[in-house]
Amino acid sequence: MSHYWSPLVHSLTPYVPGEQPKLADLVKLNTNENPYPPSPRAVAAMCQELGDDGASLRLYPDPNADRLKQAVAEHFAAFALTPAHVFVGNGSDEVLAHAFMALLKHDRPILMPDITYSFYPVYCRLHGIDSVPVPLDENFAIRVDDYLRENGGIVIANPNAPTGQLLPLADIARLAEAHPRSVLVVDEAYVDFGGETAVALVRRLRNLLVIRTLSKSHALAGLRVGYAVGDPLLIEALERIKNSFNSYPLDRLAIAGATAALADEAYLEQTRQAVMRSRAELTAGLTRLGFDVLPSAANFIFACHPQRDAAELAAELRRRSVIVRHFALPRIDQHLRITIGTDAQCARLLAALAEIL
Ligand code: PMP
Repeated sequence: MSHYWSPLVHSLTPYVPGEQPKLADLVKLNTNENPYPPSPRAVAAMCQELGDDGASLRLYPDPNADRLKQAVAEHFAAFALTPAHVFVGNGSDEVLAHAFMALLKHDRPILMPDITYSFYPVYCRLHGIDSVPVPLDENFAIRVDDYLRENGGIVIANPNAPTGQLLPLADIARLAEAHPRSVLVVDEAYVDFGGETAVALVRRLRNLLVIRTLSKSHALAGLRVGYAVGDPLLIEALERIKNSFNSYPLDRLAIAGATAALADEAYLEQTRQAVMRSRAELTAGLTRLGFDVLPSAANFIFACHPQRDAAELAAELRRRSVIVRHFALPRIDQHLRITIGTDAQCARLLAALAEIL
């Protein structure tokens, strides 16, 4: 605390990301990274952008990242989008931050699940937005009927984090249609691992903003690229915030790598199928060890053991160089969120758990 700090800084409770320990031989299943490398075409595009002497880095990148917006529109060619339907940012966290300020800050409070991505309440505090938590049901599912009330906007993650539970597309449409005067933000960070994208609804539902990332399904968490898809009027609101904040959120390497990664549909398909196969096997393995595992449409699973304390299990795993995520939060403090690793990593997790149990 310091008297140099603005009153806003005093009032903040920042988000705490999962740790990135620098230990050798670690099985790192705590931050939902992809266990496979990114598309070789993305790597080649970044090398090409850099060139032999890095001279391209002398110059600022395209502030509008037009090439990347075009690639996003083409990635969703089935839904007849244009670059004007696309906003890009430095990771979906930045895109979300702008969306809260641009589209969710109104007089009425916004609605979000009581258990969801814990960055959302942090953005609310940063931007001075009132929010009302709407409890998930006893199976950790979103009940759409609970959202049929006055609001200044709604934000949900689909599949939800950290539960991995999926809300069907018909329910997303029902939510957006029920509130034509406010914006529904759907965070699809994990949707490529088992859900259907709401980008399909964007042309029809003008109040729907879908936010996505290349961090998970495209294995580019280190590159920091996220984007939003929505009606051009929603996108313009985001551009106005962005251009009042940072003209060049995406660097040259990020634009080149993300553009190539999005175009490599075959690689995406191959790696997401591998993750989904490993998820089924890991779920079966954990179930054999007595865990209750929620059905997951994400690249992680949410599990609890009826006889064992989750925090203790996480600590025991850590002693064996396996890191998973535990949230000391109401309703979920007996669960572990476990990222789907390679089959070898999943096997090490199961072996460590078998030993502990
Ligand atoms: N949304 C959800 C639900 C997440 O779990 C994450 C990852 N922490 C993000 C958004 C942000 O991802 P990124 O900024 O890497 O795109």
